[in-house]
Amino acid sequence: MQTPLTVGAGAMTRTVTEPVDGGETATIDSDVAIVGGGLAGSLAAAVLARAGHRVALIDKRAVYPDEFRVEKIGGHQLAMLRKLGFLDALDKVACRYDQVLNIREGKVVDVSVGQAYGFPYADLVAMARSQMPHSSGLIVDEVTAISCSDDVQHLELASGRQVTARLVVLATGMAGALAYKLGIRRRVLAERHSVSFGFTIVRQDGRPFDFEALTCYGERTADGIDYLSLFPVRAGMRANLFMFRDPTDPVMRELRREPEATILRLLPGLRSYLGDFRVTDRVQNWVMDLTVVEGHLRPGIVLIGDAFQTNCPAAGTGVARLLVDVDRLCTEYVPQWLMTAGMGLEKISQFYADRDKIAADQQSLKMARFRQALTSRNDIGWDVRRRVHFLRRSLTHRVDQMHPGWLGRVRGALRA
Ligand SMILES: Cc1cc2nc3c(=O)[nH]c(=O)nc-3n(C[C@H](O)[C@H](O)[C@H](O)COP(=O)(O)OP(=O)(O)OC[C@H]3O[C@@H](n4cnc5c(N)ncnc54)[C@H](O)[C@@H]3O)c2cc1C
Repeated sequence: MQTPLTVGAGAMTRTVTEPVDGGETATIDSDVAIVGGGLAGSLAAAVLARAGHRVALIDKRAVYPDEFRVEKIGGHQLAMLRKLGFLDALDKVACRYDQVLNIREGKVVDVSVGQAYGFPYADLVAMARSQMPHSSGLIVDEVTAISCSDDVQHLELASGRQVTARLVVLATGMAGALAYKLGIRRRVLAERHSVSFGFTIVRQDGRPFDFEALTCYGERTADGIDYLSLFPVRAGMRANLFMFRDPTDPVMRELRREPEATILRLLPGLRSYLGDFRVTDRVQNWVMDLTVVEGHLRPGIVLIGDAFQTNCPAAGTGVARLLVDVDRLCTEYVPQWLMTAGMGLEKISQFYADRDKIAADQQSLKMARFRQALTSRNDIGWDVRRRVHFLRRSLTHRVDQMHPGWLGRVRGALRA
């Protein structure tokens, strides 16, 4: 059964079943306080609140802003979302697609088949927040300080209110200030590792594109283009361009100012697939450092999602990592931890030592390095690997076209 959140202010103590009023001075008492309602924090809050725990989800913004983050998911990420009970809700807010045409130098490499979704990140976060039972509302406020112990954790909010919790989940994404105050540092593994661009396109003649979704891989290592991914969102065809290149290179400005011409100059093989097109919105871009935290093993607090480790957008592992964090923490460890007194290191360390979590974190870093090397290394070893990589994919595709179902049978036999 669900226990509602309790709010007290001096003599006033009451039980809330609606979001807490931002102007109220109060102490909010909870089992788990989640700081940061991006994707990781909102999913964690919904999973824990659905299981009947008293959750205080705190984010400084009532609505996630139009910021460039993950905009498409598919494959194993969907299996995880289904397991956690979010797939039906995702299906209602996102654009589904099932086929991606993969091309390089104007030629088809292969076709990926499988359920996938495109969306603005803000919609994905709103979907996750909407899955909290209504009695566990979002607290719109900024957490300014946290003090942690083996027993009860205390959080101070910018409004002057306070939150107490048995456990704090820090899901503040790449904002490091709070963790820093606790002595948790970010180690930079690769500075300015990748650059990503996001924008929406439509055809000049207003007709739909001839493909459901398309990935176009870079043609020359000197360009540093890993791939341009085109996939449907409600507003049109979304474009995500992932590059490994100096962010101060003039091409970055050209991409922002003249995206259509610059894209076709860098990826001439795209022209016949796109026809005349134009960008309909602001070109957003992001320079990503690969970082991981240190000194995070402390009583009473765990870090999840980007707050623990950042990811290379081209590798597309950020959501997979945060889903593993949410799944392992919220379905396995937190329910056990809350059953006994205390929130000491022996409990917290179980999460960081979790095999699935460690594997997902390591896979994310491995894929980040692989994508960078496959895109831009031009020594003979990587040149051969790159050729073999695309040749293997295109041969497999051709055989599968001649003998439909062959690939699926081989993969099935290998798995058996
Ligand atoms: C350009 C780009 C493209 C990407 N593409 C992909 C992709 O294709 N595939 C993929 O898997 N991953 C991708 N990622 C990674 C993915 O977007 C992230 O891993 C994911 O969004 C992290 O979610 P999060 O909840 O950890 O952090 P966030 O979504 O950043 O949420 C953090 C929240 O904390 C709140 N907050 C911070 N400090 C405080 C405070 N003191 N008090 C209250 N609230 C606070 C913020 O308001 C925010 O809502 C991409 C990332 C970027 C930047």
